[in-house]
Amino acid sequence: MNKILSAVVFALLGAVAVNFLPKFRKQKKQDNNNSNKDSMSRNDFYQPYERSERHTSGSSRVDESRPSTVAIIYRSEMDYISRCIHDYPNIETGGQLFGYLTENGSPVVCYAIGPGKNANHQPAFFNQDTEYLQTIYNELNRRYGLRYIGEWHSHHQLGLAKPSGHDASTIVHGIQRSNFRHFLLCIGNCDNNYHSTLNAFTFHINDQYHYFHAPWKLIETESPYRPIVDRDLQHLLSHPRYPRASYGTNYILSESGQSSMVTPNYGDNYWLNDKSNNLILKNIIDYLATYNGEEYQVKPQIDADKHVHLLVQRFNGAVQITFGERFPEEAPMIIPSVGIPYKRDVNWNYNGNIFETFIHYYDDMFRTYETNHPNEAGNQDEQNNQDEQTIIIQP
Ligand SMILES: [Zn+2]
Repeated sequence: MNKILSAVVFALLGAVAVNFLPKFRKQKKQDNNNSNKDSMSRNDFYQPYERSERHTSGSSRVDESRPSTVAIIYRSEMDYISRCIHDYPNIETGGQLFGYLTENGSPVVCYAIGPGKNANHQPAFFNQDTEYLQTIYNELNRRYGLRYIGEWHSHHQLGLAKPSGHDASTIVHGIQRSNFRHFLLCIGNCDNNYHSTLNAFTFHINDQYHYFHAPWKLIETESPYRPIVDRDLQHLLSHPRYPRASYGTNYILSESGQSSMVTPNYGDNYWLNDKSNNLILKNIIDYLATYNGEEYQVKPQIDADKHVHLLVQRFNGAVQITFGERFPEEAPMIIPSVGIPYKRDVNWNYNGNIFETFIHYYDDMFRTYETNHPNEAGNQDEQNNQDEQTIIIQP
């Protein structure tokens, strides 16, 4: 219970406008006088980001008695926060981070939450819905043993990609009061193209007037806790409305131990930029090529926008399938050539599984005619197909 009280305190973060710099400047001086010359390089409140480059060697030797030089997060949780940030592109939002610390004190984010329904979103501050936080924290801790390890909030488009003076002082007071040894504060930003960034700042009880801008070590999988918690606590959780993550430049630690600013190579946040989706596309092609026990030729094509189209040659014509920018949140555009009968009022019910959703959709569109009476239906349909096809072709 003690921990969650401090969680509530930490949840009252924000207020970019408040300036605590004079206080910290004084404290910093004292700290410098006391510190060892050989101590690990650390950020302070005035440290420009460029200097972080020289900390990269520290990442392989994390010192538990200092702010962690790396922050570890599962891809699913980074994505979740990105979606939360995009829900509030012009105002602050935030949430809490749950997981554990490694033996070196590096935070591992296993589960992130966003704002509760009664959170207070303002242009320059965010207050979490404390009842929501309390409820979720209790369940995460009781059921799965997850610890409260940090917070995140978004400075949206304010142009401040690090903690404000008020943010830093809130964290320092929080860790003092509750005796947290380590704490992770993440600051999000976004632009009006729906690209988000998330910067990690690590704090340590022994070093209260410095924090470290830590690169992310991304675990490129879904957190094992994400599907379990989402299922078990589905009646308690609030989730972001924005359907997918999209990134600007983030500070990333590579597998070889180099940290650098990484910007995804967008065309833009197209689904196939996620490498794991290439296998799904291959499975879709295989499915189309052997649909309903027949053999079809499937030709993939890439247009100028780098969007993938599939041309399926069938015995009675061709089907053009386009995976647009918003796929898989939106249905692929499927255009059968004149003469191919199909069902028109088919719903795209995306359930998170691209392949499964696709085959249901495609099968729903063509199954009846293919299996029952292909020729008859084809002739019937040919009469009035042209007008209705024109409607479907409209983007
Ligand atoms: Zn802030």
